[in-house]
Amino acid sequence: MADLFKIITSELLTGEMKYYATKVIIKGLQQEESIWYSSCNICKSKVTINEDVVHCAKCSKENIDYSLRYVLKLYVEDDTSNAIFTLSDSEAESIISVPVSELENIKVTSIEEYIKIVKNSCDKEMTFIIKAKDKICGNRTFRSLTVQSIKKDSHEINHGI
Ligand SMILES: [Zn+2]
Repeated sequence: MADLFKIITSELLTGEMKYYATKVIIKGLQQEESIWYSSCNICKSKVTINEDVVHCAKCSKENIDYSLRYVLKLYVEDDTSNAIFTLSDSEAESIISVPVSELENIKVTSIEEYIKIVKNSCDKEMTFIIKAKDKICGNRTFRSLTVQSIKKDSHEINHGI
């Protein structure tokens, strides 16, 4: 098991990927952007929808079938540091415990219920297998940490108020 400090500071060569198991507490969800997106059913890329015309730039096709998929950014921490983990659809669904189409409906009908569900997915201690890779964005490099899988021994922590 690796701690966050080690994961963030370990040396990575350009293009190198490293995998770690790490036990962290989920502190929150980044929600500045939507936690799901409309995704092309063929290539899973984000589609644009303009006046009912669905367009996938990657497939260069219009009117393709699409569905909602989660993309989650979790704020996590342990005793050594904090970080942001990115999760794709199936891992995200096991954190939120609600399928994405259902959650979209809930958000439309009851924002209180939606907030409650999102809040319930936080304050949990979980063991993740993550992939660390450095990405270059303009002239800076940042370390992307993507969840590959969630270990079964994860459990809720008791937190007093
Ligand atoms: Zn596509």
